[in-house]
Amino acid sequence: MADRNVIPVTPLEAASPYELRVNLGKDVPETDVRTALATGDMGFLHSFTTGATVDGPGVRVVAWTAGCMWRCLYCHNPDTWTMTNGIPVSIEQATAELRKYRHGLKMMAGGLTVSGGEPLMQHRFVLKLLTASRKMGIHTALDTQGYLGDRLTDRDLEAIDLVLLDLKAWDPERHRRLTGMDNAPTHEFARRLAARRRPVWVRFVLVPGISDDPQEVASIARFAADLGNVERVDVLPFHQLGRHKWHKLGLEYELENVRPPSIEAVARACEAFRSVGLKAH
Ligand code: SF4
Repeated sequence: MADRNVIPVTPLEAASPYELRVNLGKDVPETDVRTALATGDMGFLHSFTTGATVDGPGVRVVAWTAGCMWRCLYCHNPDTWTMTNGIPVSIEQATAELRKYRHGLKMMAGGLTVSGGEPLMQHRFVLKLLTASRKMGIHTALDTQGYLGDRLTDRDLEAIDLVLLDLKAWDPERHRRLTGMDNAPTHEFARRLAARRRPVWVRFVLVPGISDDPQEVASIARFAADLGNVERVDVLPFHQLGRHKWHKLGLEYELENVRPPSIEAVARACEAFRSVGLKAH
C-alpha cells in the first residue's frame, strides 16, 4: 500500500464542491486501489466542505467521495466520476479531518454527510468514516442514488442516522436517458430502508423538460409516500453551477440550453409531494 501518512499537496478542504479536481490519485498503483476498496483503510475524496445547510439537518460537514458509475445529464461533479481523480486519504486522515469540526457540529445540531460521486462505490471506507463519526457523537447522513445499496448489510444500516436518497426519474426509460442506469436497484434499496424503518429524506432534482412531467412527479411522490419512512422531500431546482467542469473535462453538456425551473414550477412539484402527505421543501 502507498504510505498512508503522506500529507496531500491539494488540501482536503475545498471552498466548494464546484472546485474542479482531477488526477489527484492517479499515482496510486492499481493493486493499492483494489486493496483500499477491499479494506476501507484508504479512500478517494474530492474534498471536505463545511457549512452546508442543505445536506441533512443542521450545519454539516460534507465528505465528497470520488467514483460514480452513473452519468446524470445534470451532474454537477463529473470530476468525481473517476475514483482516482480524488485525493487518496487514509481512514485515519479522514477521521482526523472530521474531528476538527466535532464541537461545532454538535453545537449547530449538524453532522457529517457523505456524498459524492456515489459513496457506496467505496462502501467499506465510507462505513468506517460513518462509524468513526458516530463514535465522536456526530450525526451521520449518507447521500446516495442507492444503486449499490445491497453492499450494505442490515447492521451497516444501523451506523447511518439518515439516508438522503436520490430519486431522479420514475419511468425506467426516462431514468436511463437521464442517468444511463436502471432505477430498479434504487427502488429495491428504498423498500429495504423502509422495511428496516431507517429515516430517509428523498432528494429530487427538478429539470425542466426532463423530470418535471406532472405524471413523473406524481409517481415518485406516490412511491415515496407508500414507503412510510420518508421524513421529508427536498425538491432541488436544476442549476448549471457544474457546467464549467463538463467543459474543462471535454465532455458534452447536453443541458446547455436548459434553464433552472421557475419558482412556480418548484412550488408545483412541492405541492405534488405534499398532496400525498409528505413534507416537501
Ligand atoms: S449519481 Fe450523482 S455523482 Fe453520479 S452522475 Fe449522477 S449526479 Fe453525478
